[in-house]
Amino acid sequence: MQFFNIQDTINALKEGKVTSASLVKDSIDTFEKDKSSAIPLNAFLEMYDDAIAKAQKADDLITAARNGGQSALDELFAKQPLLGLPFAVKDNISVKGHRLTCASKILEGYVAPYDATVIARLEKSGAIPLGRCNQDEFAMGSSTEYSCYGPTRNPINREYVSGGSSGGPAAAVSANQALFALGTETGGSVRLPASYCGIYGLKTTYGVLSRWGVVAYGSSLDQVGLLAHTPDDIAKALSVMAGVDMYDDTSADLPGAASLADLKAYSDSEIAGLKIAIPKQFLETKGLMKDVGDVFNNVQDWLKAKGAKIDVVDLPVLDASIASYYVIALSEAASNLSRFDGIRYGRRVDPGEGYDELYVKTRSEGFGPEVKRRIVIGNYVLSEQFSGDTYKKGMTVRAKIQSEMAKLFESYDIVICPTCPTPAFKLGQKVDSPLEMYLSDLFTTFVNLARITSISVPAGKTSEANGSMPVGIQFAGGMFQEEKILRLAQSWEKDHPGCGIPLK
Ligand code: GLN
Repeated sequence: MQFFNIQDTINALKEGKVTSASLVKDSIDTFEKDKSSAIPLNAFLEMYDDAIAKAQKADDLITAARNGGQSALDELFAKQPLLGLPFAVKDNISVKGHRLTCASKILEGYVAPYDATVIARLEKSGAIPLGRCNQDEFAMGSSTEYSCYGPTRNPINREYVSGGSSGGPAAAVSANQALFALGTETGGSVRLPASYCGIYGLKTTYGVLSRWGVVAYGSSLDQVGLLAHTPDDIAKALSVMAGVDMYDDTSADLPGAASLADLKAYSDSEIAGLKIAIPKQFLETKGLMKDVGDVFNNVQDWLKAKGAKIDVVDLPVLDASIASYYVIALSEAASNLSRFDGIRYGRRVDPGEGYDELYVKTRSEGFGPEVKRRIVIGNYVLSEQFSGDTYKKGMTVRAKIQSEMAKLFESYDIVICPTCPTPAFKLGQKVDSPLEMYLSDLFTTFVNLARITSISVPAGKTSEANGSMPVGIQFAGGMFQEEKILRLAQSWEKDHPGCGIPLK
């Protein structure tokens, strides 16, 4: 892709310097080349076969409007603000007529019968779904190594993981194979790969983006998220996607969504007026790598130099967030994944002796080991003798996190902390140690539990000795405070363009 942000691409499309079809073709060519390379990135699993035709249609509209003069062009883009822009889609979001597998053998051969609301809204604004991206199976993981298609590698250094579970979408954007991408979050799956791949990743307030057409993992936590090179790109896409959807009862309007199309960075004096909190618990985390701490200090220095007030706050409940998250997420997953029974969706293994056998065989052969582990743990937690204990404890901790965060945001505008205690690790390093993998989510899950919003910002790199890998820092805001964190992130981007990765 020749362009790195939405505004530049729109300007070039309007001026006729580039066509939408050439953008799509460029990505398809890169995908084909990558597939046959010695160490494939494996970000995309498939390019949609109708993307070029959709792009040509967009080009026809743009050419006709250009012939009608500037006002016709402006009118066209006012109606379809993302016209002709290709985006990548995680493999758990439905795009009508295209395969959807959640990177699982159990959904082999499944074709989505309808569009997810987020897809329909992006297409209505003129954007073009480009292809399906890799992920951890059923979005369970933090490295995209738990995929039936093999891992997605990190574009900065292919020996490293891309992060997960939205590693495919993050790598696709980071490697300039897509302008922006849709991922999903249950406990950090957009922010974590964004930080590992050196790009921006936003988790919205629970409800802001419809979950209709998105395969459920932990329904009380799941949200669609956005990945891009700039906060402005994320804001532009969010402004056409956000809001109530009659197909999702948990959906909610985002106040001021329309104005996100024209995101303004905060001025220095506006930053001086911000009150910022840092949870003490995260600063004291034993596994916090020094390089990550150094990058975090730089972000604090940047904020302080502009006059923002920063306090370290004591939130002991955050120490229990990861335990609470895994109890709740796995319980909900065990329940949600019971629908994959060999009867209704995807793969079916020969029924043999009857339905019980069909069910057992299909699930045994269809699910990978990590998904099975989680179904077993989830059902164990939900079983009668434990439901009064473990699950309720998880829910009690969650309620406390929610109320403490709500209280905190009465006095503070933004909470900042690293996205992850460490940067991307080498492939294979944690894949056999589930607990270590789960600890990658130490700083992200409180956001999902509290149903608030947070963006991972590419803030720097580790030292050369540690591989010069990108480091992400989070700006988290209270419920529906997307504009606040996006504006601050845009100020960061203005002062540190392309901080995460060198744009070619
Ligand atoms: N890594 C976390 C998990 O495995 C989060 C995944 C996600 O957000 N989908 O559950």
